[in-house]
Amino acid sequence: MEYDHILIRFGEITTKGRNRNLFINKLVNNIARKLTKFEGLKYEKTRDRIYIRLNGEPHEEINEVLKNIIGIQSFSLALKVESEIEKIKDGVLTAFKQLEHEGKSFKISARRSDKNFPCDSNQLNHELGGHILKNTRGVYVNVHTPDINIRVEVRKEATYITFKDERGLGGLPVGSSGKAMLMLSGGLDSPVAGYLSMNRGLTLEAVHFHSPPYTSDRARQKVIDLAQQLTEFSGTIKLHIVPFTEIQTTIQRQIPENYTLISTRRMMLRITDEIRRRRNALAIITGESLGQVASQTLESMHVINNVTNTPIIRPLVTVDKFDIINLAKKINTHDISIRPYEDCCTIFTPAAPKTRPKLEKVTHYESYTDFESLIEKAVNETEVLTIDGSKKEEIEELF
Ligand code: ATP
Ligand code: MG
Repeated sequence: MEYDHILIRFGEITTKGRNRNLFINKLVNNIARKLTKFEGLKYEKTRDRIYIRLNGEPHEEINEVLKNIIGIQSFSLALKVESEIEKIKDGVLTAFKQLEHEGKSFKISARRSDKNFPCDSNQLNHELGGHILKNTRGVYVNVHTPDINIRVEVRKEATYITFKDERGLGGLPVGSSGKAMLMLSGGLDSPVAGYLSMNRGLTLEAVHFHSPPYTSDRARQKVIDLAQQLTEFSGTIKLHIVPFTEIQTTIQRQIPENYTLISTRRMMLRITDEIRRRRNALAIITGESLGQVASQTLESMHVINNVTNTPIIRPLVTVDKFDIINLAKKINTHDISIRPYEDCCTIFTPAAPKTRPKLEKVTHYESYTDFESLIEKAVNETEVLTIDGSKKEEIEELF
């Protein structure tokens, strides 16, 4: 008898009532997609668990993949036995003997979800604990801080014995909350904002503004690499690369210098919103963090935001830079983000941008130029890449 299953728990989904099936199906699909190379795996789902039958596939490697899947609360290697007291006793003892147990304390945590099973959880704890004490040497029971905690879940269809929980990322499965557009720069913040949004179940499409020849191919590649890294947590991500040079140079010519930054942001938001509309997404995500730079004062956000009614999600709005950096390290975007290539905003940033811009002023300045048609043109010429998890990227379509 050997550990032959992985048992997956998904805490938060259980509160989702009616949508539960949708959530569980998303999660199973996300898991299966990440594990396609292990062809022997079989999946089973119940109301509150997913079971993967290993069929001899290597569980260590699979564990590493599961740790990076959003929506998994915890998981454990499990031994499956029939829900019959003698079989459970055998299983628990065999499982226990496979562990380093000499001199260690242990505890049995039984849970009976099949209420027709003849012993309740207390009786099971005693029965199974007694069986281990009788058949091993040098071990003792400690119910408060055991070295080994053996969990036994008795269900109608089978009983699962597990001893060690690995933590997952938690959150809601990607795709279970709908789709939003992530404004992805080459900086530290926006990839983290994207990750946090996926953690609430959102599917992302990314939008990036580039301004060749002022921004280089390497800056563009950096953003592709960031999107690629984010696919670790999702399926594919569509990346919309918007040609922004004409609009930026027009802004430089037409808008007073201390308002160019605000106007640039407003144009970016208008374009993103139009791509969002065409792609049927319902929200826009940015990496803005209150007070971080001139365009992120409350007054600036207010004036920038004025171009649309679309919900804008700012997961980092109250998060400290220090914590953002730690998150960027955790999701492996940090080292890509700190590559030194310039982004279109850094190049055009004025020496003294307004930190308290006035809406009437910026709309007045913008009114002398036909930005509408420039925006239309930029959206139509946007290049769309489909970034997939297997490190390939291809040009897919132009709008
Ligand atoms: P980041 O670290 O994400 O670049 P930041 O601290 O540099 O953010 P800003 O430059 O003010 O802040 O950008 C604020 C937000 O605007 C970014 O988090 C991103 O969502 C969006 N943004 C900025 N530049 C671009 C760009 N070139 N393409 C797409 N989105 C952008
Ligand atoms: Mg930036």
